[in-house]
This record gives sequence, C-alpha cells and structure tokens, in this order.
Amino acid sequence: MLDQAQRILKDVFGYDAFRGNQGAIIEQVAGGGDALVLMPTGGGKSLCYQVPALLRDGLAVVVSPLIALMDDQVATLDELGVAAVALNSTLSADEQREIAERIRRNEIKLLYLAPERLVQPRMLAFLQRLQIALFAIDEAHCVSQWGHDFRPEYLQLGQLAELFPGVPRIALTATADMRTREEIVQRLHLEHAERFLSSFDRPNIFYRIVPKEQPRKQLLGFLAERRGDAGIVYCMSRKKVDDLAAFLTEQGFPALPYHAGLPNELRAYHQKRFLNEEGLIMVATIAFGMGIDKPNVRFVAHLDLPKSLEAYYQETGRAGRDGLPADAWMAYGLQDVIFLKQMLNNSEGDERHKRIEQHKLDAMLALCEETRCRRQVLLAYFDEDLPQPCGHCDNCVDDVQTWDATEPARQALSAIYRSGQRYGVGHLVDILLGRDNDKVLGLGHQHLSVFGVGKSLAEGDWRSLFRQLVARGLVDVDLEGFGGLRLSDSCRPLLRGEVSLALRRDLKPQQAAKGQKSAASQLVRIEERDTWEALRALRRRLAEEHGVPPYVIFPDATLLEMLRSQPASLADMARVSGVGARKLERYGAAFLEVLQGTSEPARSPIDLRHELVTLARAGMTPAQIARQLDCSEKNVYALLAEAIGQQQLSLEQALDLPEDLLGEIQEAFLDGEGELPPVAEIAPQFATRVPEAVLYCVRAALQAEFEL
Ligand code: ADP
Ligand code: ZN
Repeated sequence: MLDQAQRILKDVFGYDAFRGNQGAIIEQVAGGGDALVLMPTGGGKSLCYQVPALLRDGLAVVVSPLIALMDDQVATLDELGVAAVALNSTLSADEQREIAERIRRNEIKLLYLAPERLVQPRMLAFLQRLQIALFAIDEAHCVSQWGHDFRPEYLQLGQLAELFPGVPRIALTATADMRTREEIVQRLHLEHAERFLSSFDRPNIFYRIVPKEQPRKQLLGFLAERRGDAGIVYCMSRKKVDDLAAFLTEQGFPALPYHAGLPNELRAYHQKRFLNEEGLIMVATIAFGMGIDKPNVRFVAHLDLPKSLEAYYQETGRAGRDGLPADAWMAYGLQDVIFLKQMLNNSEGDERHKRIEQHKLDAMLALCEETRCRRQVLLAYFDEDLPQPCGHCDNCVDDVQTWDATEPARQALSAIYRSGQRYGVGHLVDILLGRDNDKVLGLGHQHLSVFGVGKSLAEGDWRSLFRQLVARGLVDVDLEGFGGLRLSDSCRPLLRGEVSLALRRDLKPQQAAKGQKSAASQLVRIEERDTWEALRALRRRLAEEHGVPPYVIFPDATLLEMLRSQPASLADMARVSGVGARKLERYGAAFLEVLQGTSEPARSPIDLRHELVTLARAGMTPAQIARQLDCSEKNVYALLAEAIGQQQLSLEQALDLPEDLLGEIQEAFLDGEGELPPVAEIAPQFATRVPEAVLYCVRAALQAEFEL
C-alpha cells in the first residue's frame, strides 16, 4: 500500500518523499484505522488525509471550521486535478443539489463541510446511503472547551463513531498541549486511534526578540531587509493597528489593517488581498489568525507582547508554513510588562484563573529575558527536549552576554525603597544618575543617599535593568495605572546580599540591526532575481486567470527549485518537487519558456505597470527593469512617475538617489509658491547630474505628497 501511496504522492502532488510521520499516518488511515495527528503548522497535515482519500473507495468527508480554509483547500485540489467540493452556506439551493447529484454519481473524491452542516440529520442520512472512505476532522482542537477556538458544533462529531462503524476517522491539530489532546480523544471517541506526535519545532523560523526603544523605527529597520515579502505585524489595540498600517503604507511598505472593529466586508476584503497579492503586510490584532493558510508569510513581527508562550508560538507559527526561511521578530519593553500585568489584575475571573494566567505571562517574560537558546526554552515549555542550542535564533548567533548586576540591582531596589515605592522608572533613573531636575528637587530627592550613585551606568542600562527586575518579579508594578514600582517579597535575598544576580546585556540597537538580515533575503541571489521575478509574474498571471491565490498554482519552494535546477525539458520539469502530472500538463510549458528566456507574452499596459511596480519594490533599478520588461528606459521612467503619482510606489522604491542631491532637487521644485514648476524649468540646473526623467519622478512624488 505504501508503494501506491508513494505513487500518488508523486503523480498527483508532485512530491518525492513523505515528511516525518506522513507515511505511517497514511498507512494507518488507508488501512482502515483511526488516527490522532498532532503536527505543527506547516508540517503537512493535509496530505495525511488527502492521500488515503485517493487510496480508498468512496467519498472522503473533511470537516473544517472555516469557509476560507475550505475554499483554499478545494482550489488547491482542483489545481491538482482532484475532484473536491465544499458545501457551504454561500451556495444556492440549485448548486447544492447539483453537488449532491455529483456525489451520488461518484464523481467527487473529497467533500469539505462545516461541522454544523455535517451533523444535520438530513446530511447524516444522505451520507449513510453512500460509501464513505474516511472522515477527517481538521482543527480538531476546536472541540476543546478550554481553548479560544472552541466550536460547540464540534462536540457533536463524537456521534460519527457510532453512525459510521468501520469508517476510519482521522483528527488533526497543531495544538500541542496534553489536556487538549485528551479532550479530543474523549469527545471524538478516538480511544482506539493510533497517536502520531511530531516535534513542534519550526526549524525554518528564526526567532529574535529585541528591547523596545523606538518601535516604529526599529520595525522599519526590520522591514527594510524584507521589501516585497508578505508578513504579519501584531499590535495590541485597534487604534495602534490603524495608525501603524497607515504609517507603513506611507513609508512605502504597503500594509492593510485588520481588527474586530472593522466592518465585516472590509475585513474579508483585506484578508483576500493578503492571500492573493504578494508582498502585502497585514497589521492586525490577534483577531487575525485562524484561517490564514497563506504558506508564504515570510515574517511575523510583534510590536506588543503576547500574553503567553502558547499565543507567541501560535502567532509566530503563521510564518513560513511552506518550510522556507522565515522570521519571528518582536520588540518588547517595560511598558508591555506593565500593561499586561494591569490587564491581568483588572480581568474578571477567580484567583486560581488569575494565577494560571500570571504563570503564563511569567513564562513569556522569561523567554524575552532569556540568554540561552530561545528555541530550547520555547520547546521545553511544551515538554519537548532539544538537546543542543539551535544555532538559529538571536541568542545563538549573537552570543548574548550576561553581566553581574548584583550591585546596581541593589542600588535600584534601594532607590525604589527610599523614594517611597511610588515612582516610575523615569524618575528612579533620574535619582540614580543624580539629575537635579525640577521633579527631583521638588521632592527633595537630591538628599537621598542613593542620589547620583549610579553614574557608572548609562540611562539605557538602567532602564534595561529595571525592566528585567520587573520581568523577574523582583519588583512589582503599581497596578492602579501610574506605573510606580514597589519591592516584592522575592527581592529580599538580593537586598540582604544573600544571592547575586546575572542579567542579560541588551545589544545596542546598531548591533541588533546588523543581525536583522532577513532569512528569506538569502533565498534568491541577485543574479537570479530577474528570472525569479519572471517566474513570479507568470504565476501571478495564471493565478488571476484561474481566480486562485498564486501559491495555489505553485508554492514558492517549487518556483525556487525550478530556478535552481533549471529544467530544460518537460521531463526535467516533472522531477521538480511540487510539479504533479496535472500541473505539468497545464503549466509546465509556460514555466519552461520563462526559464529559457524565450517568453514574450503579450502584455497590456496595465500588466506592464503592475510588473514594473513589483520589480521596483523588489529593489530593481530602472535600467534593470527596462531589461527585464524589455522596454526602453525612458518608458520605464514614465511609468515609474505615473506609479509614484498614484502612490503605488514611493520615490525611494523607484530610484536610488543620493540624499543630498534629492534634497536639492526637491528644494528647486518647492522654491516659489503654489503650483510646482514644470520639469523643463529646473532641468537646466541639473542637466549634468541626473537624467531629466528622474526629475519627473521627484516631481510626481512631491505632487502626491502635497497634493499639489
Ligand atoms: P499544515 O496543514 O500541517 O499546516 P499543509 O498541509 O498546508 O500543512 O502543508 C504545508 C506545505 O507543505 C504545503 O505547501 C504542502 O504542499 C507541503 N508539503 C506537505 N507534504 C509535503 C511533502 N511530503 N513533500 C513536500 N512538500 C510537502
Ligand atoms: Zn537557538
């Protein structure tokens, strides 16, 4: 049977080998047994039921909680030439009847359903008259009442065991914890299911956590290395989401907001754009997440601290589902800690519940202040042992230092105590540094014995120290809202000199920025850029034609392999991972042409402009773009100016001008009142220095900026 499974894997899906447990799981289910599958996001869960569905006779029924997920899966299967449909409320009665007919005629292999629909008596009766190959229950953790994805309808899926004896059932989830696992087994009656546990490590994700100083600037620094990549930026509040999305767009990083306060249609529209377009950034509250199956999310950035490691793991896990390099980046500071502690304090719920939440937050804070390998710590929290440091997180590659902070910590505690345990970090640092500003003098704090004792450390060091004292629970924050610090009981041994304290030495921002080179930017080498963009352009065009997201045509990994292995014939093409029989037939020739550089597709002006914008955003110069698009440089400049004028591109994306020269040109345009002068008027003074075409672009940018 495994032989046959292998053949399906290659013929239909185009893959050469099963990953991890896939082979064993498929054998179990195809052989008629039940399975419980725990696999991280991106691990390849879908194949675990799709291959058995093709191996067994009859209809495979897949339960999935979200319409968006189902549509995506059906589109993907459709592209592979597998007959799959989703029955959902968006279909008309006629369409539904037709699907039922096709199912009766055995024309459908996989049927995707929402749980509430599956358990309708009519639906169950309909299915009982058919031969059922298997039931797959995706996102099976939705059955858990303790998780935040709880779906009451999932509880009713337990009855499948009785109603369909002998039909194998496979439950799948990316949620790791023990309690959820046991709940799934119990509620779905999977007592006899074989359990398949995978490692929850996501080796392709690079983790980095930096101290928060100027978050927007830091974020821009992080994004600068990632132009043209799709990513998610998480923030706590709706307002922050809106503001940040606008700010990023202004800065030339196209970004969309997503939060529960937006009208439903707008949210759905933004989600759709995120899936279908390349290189968009989604700025979101945690309302955005489940149902995001976009495989080529290249980074997840947190500007606010998640409240637990579970949340952090899940949110960062949305990066790099396709297995290609991806980044998880977070900026974290004292304000985050104070804010989350206040939230916790003000939350409803009993003491026990609060204590649990407090422990979760503490674990999250510990990860932030960690000096050992982040991945080891993260996995250990989920009871998984990674024997060696991973070599693929900031702590591993930056060689983080600790320093003996015993003495300064005692000075800091003393400053808190002597000033009456009511002031925030700013004031405490002023005291330690001996700053006699109005507040200090007004309170007479220049007379405290700790006044000025801390001059050997810089302000930033003190702030970092206070943050770590709070994160470690040595100092409490006044939770009424003023951020005043108090000593906690656990700091006594330190005060009494019984223990010492080693703290993390924060990297200077420049140092940290150096380490921000994108994992993904190393994917495509400069000299491969042109071909890469051409492959992507073709994929985008095909995706638009077929009305599916680009990754459904081919995932990035497949395009990348084409780029590397340079197939020269359809036979070569068939060997590329991800190229199955159907896709070879449909798309093989077109991609071959691009690779052989013979492609001269007819392009509409709109296509041309679209491509040009993409290439410019990807960092190509006008000359490179001209070569790539096979048109004159003059033409490219004209189109660039147009795109800038319509704010599809920023000037920085379009041109690489020295800053002072740019300043001079801008001044020349802005010299005077009202309308900008025409290019011809200022052209002579720059004649020897820049092509006239550049002036058009600068003018367009000014016009767009000032709406002149
Ligand atoms: P999950 O549902 O576990 O998050 P998916 O089923 O969406 O993961 O798979 C993630 C990606 O890995 C998809 O692009 C899928 O096509 C790919 N994939 C799955 N199994 C294999 C395999 N055996 N070889 C190569 N790619 C695979
Ligand atoms: Zn590591």
